[in-house]
Amino acid sequence: MWFKKNYRRVFLDMHIDDWNEEFLSKLDPKAVVDTIKTCGAQQIVVKAKPHTGLCYWPASVGRMHTGLKGRDYVGEMIELCHANGIAAMVYYSQIFDNWAYEHHPAWRCVCSDGMTSMQEPVDRTKWARGRYGIVCPNNNEYRAYVKANLTELNERYRFEGMFLDMPFWPEVCYCASCRERYFKEAGKDMPTIVDWGDAAWLSFQRCREAWLGEFAAFSTQCVKAVSPAVTIEHNFSIAFAPWIFATTDMTAEASDYAGGDLYGGYLEQTFACKYYRNVSRDLPFAFITSRCDPNLKYHTSTKTDEELILHTMTALVHDGAFSVCDGMNPDGTINPEFYTGTMKRVFDTTREFEKYVGGERESNVSVWFSSCSKFDTADNGKRVDLNCGRSYIDGPMKMAGILRENTIPFDVIASKDLAAVTDDVLVISDVASICDEEMDAIERYVMGGGNLYVSGHIGHARLAELMEIEQIGMTEHDFTYMSPTGNGISSFDGFSSTDPLGVDGKQHIVSVKGDCDIVATITLPYTMTGTRQFASIHSNPPGIRTDHPAMILKHIGKGKILWTAAAIETAKPYMSRLVVCRLIRSLCGEMKFSSNAPAHVEIVGWRKSGRRYFAVLNQQETMPVAPVYDVRISIPGKTVSAQILGTKSECAVTRDGTCSVIELPKLELFHVIEVSHGA
Ligand SMILES: [Zn+2]
Repeated sequence: MWFKKNYRRVFLDMHIDDWNEEFLSKLDPKAVVDTIKTCGAQQIVVKAKPHTGLCYWPASVGRMHTGLKGRDYVGEMIELCHANGIAAMVYYSQIFDNWAYEHHPAWRCVCSDGMTSMQEPVDRTKWARGRYGIVCPNNNEYRAYVKANLTELNERYRFEGMFLDMPFWPEVCYCASCRERYFKEAGKDMPTIVDWGDAAWLSFQRCREAWLGEFAAFSTQCVKAVSPAVTIEHNFSIAFAPWIFATTDMTAEASDYAGGDLYGGYLEQTFACKYYRNVSRDLPFAFITSRCDPNLKYHTSTKTDEELILHTMTALVHDGAFSVCDGMNPDGTINPEFYTGTMKRVFDTTREFEKYVGGERESNVSVWFSSCSKFDTADNGKRVDLNCGRSYIDGPMKMAGILRENTIPFDVIASKDLAAVTDDVLVISDVASICDEEMDAIERYVMGGGNLYVSGHIGHARLAELMEIEQIGMTEHDFTYMSPTGNGISSFDGFSSTDPLGVDGKQHIVSVKGDCDIVATITLPYTMTGTRQFASIHSNPPGIRTDHPAMILKHIGKGKILWTAAAIETAKPYMSRLVVCRLIRSLCGEMKFSSNAPAHVEIVGWRKSGRRYFAVLNQQETMPVAPVYDVRISIPGKTVSAQILGTKSECAVTRDGTCSVIELPKLELFHVIEVSHGA
């Protein structure tokens, strides 16, 4: 497959309108490809149909961009890419299609308020309103249009892959096609009030997820029916967006490899890269982020070499390709200095490390990201709205942050990986709904000796049964406390029964039916939160001790479950984050590796061809990146040698008990270290 050693990519964005004659008037495909190739790109995204819906090829269905004056941009770009040994990735925007929206009113998505996307002014809280014309993948005429476009592109051109963008609903769609389909499948009208406790509501959401998964598979099939070898990358950035979007792991299943564009910094990137690596059907996956700092909105500001090197290396050491997204200027030109300068320096720096990646990850903790549970039960009773709870991503992502800060080797896994977890700990952070097959895998894991960290929601009745607890409800107070018992006092260092750990939220109340260790109990404020009465005016100090468990440890089979009544991994205080770190460490066996590296330095470890590799990434969010000194990596067992790749210099290795300690030289942006073990 073309993508196997293809790690350096350029995602050329051009969602450009054609009401002004200036637009695309200076477009010169040869100049574009000649410029981009100087940076060493191995793949270029060739836009065929952007969100405007205006075609960049002489399409028989739809309308061409008038600025092209009939010129076949797609055909020319593919030819130029191939002449330069560059793979061509043809881009097609699904669902977001202004031309289709304008010309086919019946295809339009209809929001819960009865409006279609362009009927309202640009609304910053509903990003897809105003400028974007959004049509519904449940409309069969729209599907026929997608099929006609994709068939024509594949019959007309030979290229390597397709990027199928926007496979999601930005709001819940109540168009006639959706309503008809739901009535046919469920025998009732589509609900509009959220209720995650109601099986009917949950099955409505499962329908939407299945519809979208089926649509992604449909577009993939439109391409594969003509060009079986053309690879598909459905945009999977929306994997982390709430339930409204209806995106699940089914989108990754409809893709040859996972990929998506994200703009949220290094923690989000490392979380996404780990997840993409695991959910992807093949590798490398693709991580896309912008030239512009911090995102495409800032069209004229470019990220530093340092930031782009760190993004590229963070993707690469997770077995991912890095694709830099650059927005073309409306006149059809691009910024040449970016490719001849910054991006050339970035790829010249990173390309020599491509040969070392691959192999097996080294981790002690797996954090599960569930794609079918992207909701918060606190939203029950609300009308469908984008302002829905984000606890489903806050918990797992912030847990990843704690693990990264403390160099606890970790991975982020998808539902399909649950059946094969071998790490010491599986983190189930505030997962509100666990399906039967997922629960089967989780139960086997614990019975076989795995340790669960479960916080907040208990997403399956069998999980409560395993712990022999019964769910009663939630605290009424929304600022609460956890008071450590004698069992919990070492993990809760700094807190005590009289100075308990504060939780900025409600806690789940359960009653204990069987044997378990109570690690902490719930303590409530003197007064009800959110009322005028107070004990101390600025805060809600602890005053009412209860016997409700806030944290329990249950031994089951060969493993154990630690459950906390709230997702304390989302807490801001450093003291609370340290408690989570200690709890996780208490569930781990021997660490695969450890380090004294500061919080913003991530260490990623892997094994390949009998060697161990460590990437040490100085993921500081502020520029310029300050160097870090005296970082050490400690690994169990005997070390023969540790070499800094690139410079080929040897590291000093000392002994500390049963561990070997690798002393790293000054860390600027990153080091990649190859470690050879003795007998
Ligand atoms: Zn619809």
